[in-house]
Amino acid sequence: MLASAKARYTQLIKQKTYELGFQYCGISKADFLEEEAPRLENWLNANKHGQMHYMANHFDKRLDPRLLVEGAKSVVSMLLNYYPEKERASGEEDYKLSKYAYGTDYHFVIKDKLKTLIQYIQEEVGEVNGRAFVDSAPVMDKVWAKKSGLGWVGKNANLLNRQMGSFFFIAEVIIDLELEYDGPVKDYCGTCTRCIDACPTDAITEPYVVDGSKCISYFTIELKEQIPPEVTGKFENWIFGCDICQDVCPWNRFSQPHQEPQFNPASGLLEMTKKDWEEITAEVFNRLFKNSAVKRTKLEGLKRNIAFVKNGK
Ligand code: SF4
Ligand code: SF4
Repeated sequence: MLASAKARYTQLIKQKTYELGFQYCGISKADFLEEEAPRLENWLNANKHGQMHYMANHFDKRLDPRLLVEGAKSVVSMLLNYYPEKERASGEEDYKLSKYAYGTDYHFVIKDKLKTLIQYIQEEVGEVNGRAFVDSAPVMDKVWAKKSGLGWVGKNANLLNRQMGSFFFIAEVIIDLELEYDGPVKDYCGTCTRCIDACPTDAITEPYVVDGSKCISYFTIELKEQIPPEVTGKFENWIFGCDICQDVCPWNRFSQPHQEPQFNPASGLLEMTKKDWEEITAEVFNRLFKNSAVKRTKLEGLKRNIAFVKNGK
């Protein structure tokens, strides 16, 4: 392809992602992730994924986007801010939900945007084959975003962006169209260890390594069984997910409220009191979380979490 066409398509695609509401877009060549291969293997071998068996599936596909999209040439990564205007719980005593889960499930919101993006590319360029991914197991989203200059992976294992912090979703489109590629940025964690010091379950076992099976997000969302007694009293009132290692991160000083109406909390969610949570009914649960990622735990899961936090006091 002519260099000028490549530059034009790159520019058009990036521009479109901003129109769709994404804050940042970076692009990498779709290639085998050589550096990641041994790292992923060690992590899985050490059983750091707990019951998240999907992490171990699609091992080859996770390392090579060309196995996901035939003839793939480019991985387009995007960031979408979800930092809320107002936090649900500000008092120490309130029950807390991860900020990403306040509004409509991001999978739906982002998939729609990505579909529009692929359609747009096909209209502008012609026959382009592409697939959209948002937080789906076969794509190592942080690795691609980092390669494309959208940030660095911090000691809390989140992608961090100097302008935006880390309260954003990462999404990708893999396409068989050659584009201009971006380069990585450096790591700005420096000597900071705030996330490691603040994690109540010591899930950040060493800088940059999170033992997923010790993380409150895992216990409150992924784990299907009883929460193990050794973490009793350690959840600091988090009943769905945990934002502690992001809340303490100095790069999140720069977080600005999102502009995505679908991420606004369901009416009444911000006002739920401790008592309301403890007495939550199926009706209230269904109303608050009709289209929300919280549905993943189901009512029983959320009740289990609430009881666990309450009894640990
Ligand atoms: S999300 Fe919470 S429990 Fe998990 S690593 Fe961060 S601070 Fe620790
Ligand atoms: S809290 Fe500090 S060490 Fe942890 S991710 Fe943020 S900057 Fe890096």
